[in-house]
Amino acid sequence: MELNKKIHELKEELIKSTQEIMRIKSVEEEAKENMPFGEGVSKALECALEISRRLGFKTKNLDGYVGYAEYGEGEDYIGVLGHLDVVPEGDGWVYPPYEAEIHHGKIYGRGALDDKGPIMAALYGLKAIKDLNLPLSKKVRIIFGTNEETGSKEMEYYLKKEKPPVAGFTPDAEYPLIYAEKGITSFDLVRKLESLGTDEIFIKYINGGQRVNMVPDYCESGIVVKEKDTVIKALEKFKQSSEFNLTAHIKSDMVVIKSIGVSAHGSLPHLGKNAIMQMFKFLATLPIKDSDIYKFIEFFNQYVGFECDGKSFGVALSDEESGKLSFNIGTIEMNEEKINLGLNLRYPVTYTFEDVLNPLKETLKNTGIEIDNMSHQKPLYFSKDHDLVKTLINVYNDQTGKRGEPLAIGGGTYAKEMPNILAFGPIFPGKPDLDHQANEYIEIDDLIMNSKIYAHAIYELAK
Ligand SMILES: [Zn+2]
Repeated sequence: MELNKKIHELKEELIKSTQEIMRIKSVEEEAKENMPFGEGVSKALECALEISRRLGFKTKNLDGYVGYAEYGEGEDYIGVLGHLDVVPEGDGWVYPPYEAEIHHGKIYGRGALDDKGPIMAALYGLKAIKDLNLPLSKKVRIIFGTNEETGSKEMEYYLKKEKPPVAGFTPDAEYPLIYAEKGITSFDLVRKLESLGTDEIFIKYINGGQRVNMVPDYCESGIVVKEKDTVIKALEKFKQSSEFNLTAHIKSDMVVIKSIGVSAHGSLPHLGKNAIMQMFKFLATLPIKDSDIYKFIEFFNQYVGFECDGKSFGVALSDEESGKLSFNIGTIEMNEEKINLGLNLRYPVTYTFEDVLNPLKETLKNTGIEIDNMSHQKPLYFSKDHDLVKTLINVYNDQTGKRGEPLAIGGGTYAKEMPNILAFGPIFPGKPDLDHQANEYIEIDDLIMNSKIYAHAIYELAK
């Protein structure tokens, strides 16, 4: 309780430092000398290190990529990893996005919750430990990342120069604690097209979706056809036997079909309605059989359809720890030369990438469809009995008076970028996730509560 009292004394200072760092617009920009992610990000890093020095910590700046505040003695260290870069503010703000104004007990602005407020909360947690002279057996580092939103390239740099922490956490997700994060892979499935239909009717283009990790809520296709009525009647007939939101519009020599779906996060495709797959179901009813485009569409109707777990594709992995694989078709781009489908798959934590890749390749054999642009992040998984899991969940429960259970998620957090750490807070259960939204804020009470929790967590791990 001593720590909590100390944090109350530091409250005004913590609020001021949070506002100070929030007032720097730290969106990635063009690189400059010693500013690999641009000027704004570099200023934010300098500001965080300056605040750290004012609080009496040693600091280090690793060539503008990443910096840290350090306290204590010893070989091993506990790491708290946060990030100072933010996503662009976008529109729709009631209060200015880079002024850190306080209204009704909330600090408003880009980065308030993701992730400037929480990393300041951790820094002041360490300050409370220092002011009280609590004995520690390990060093502690508050690590200020600068590229989380656009690739985490700073963490590669950090791990080349420094050894990883022996344990720690990142305040960049939610409470109570995330102990399992699925493996994630994104890739394109591409096929060259030689035939698009017949002289009477052919598909000229298909476009849809914005990001592979979202369920697409829009897809559009242009069909060049001599008798436009054929397509319009086919759509009417199709709509009698389905509930999809599809419409037809005549545009010079084409009939343009628009498919409206429901967006959802790519890790939870079952919560959305896939506009691309709705389009595929309809297009397969047109008299374009024998064409390359028909073969492609029919393949996906047969092997995916509206399944969200990859069952027909042969990749339906599942485990007790993290549930089923999620299978999302997120984007499409088709022109007269080729078709390109963007996919995002998230596989359960006890499997390997090969467990997904091998059956995937098997299903694609002899289809003329190729895999391109593949990226991959391994799963993150700690047993529920692991010391780090137990320590952090106990701190959360002690401080909140709740009985939290660790969570398994389909998303990937910053914890994947650094060995031996887990995502811990800052969003409390039931509170809105305002990351990347207009009018992002952090409640001052939550900022203080985070600081208390992080102070106790650091102390328990480093004592
Ligand atoms: Zn973040």
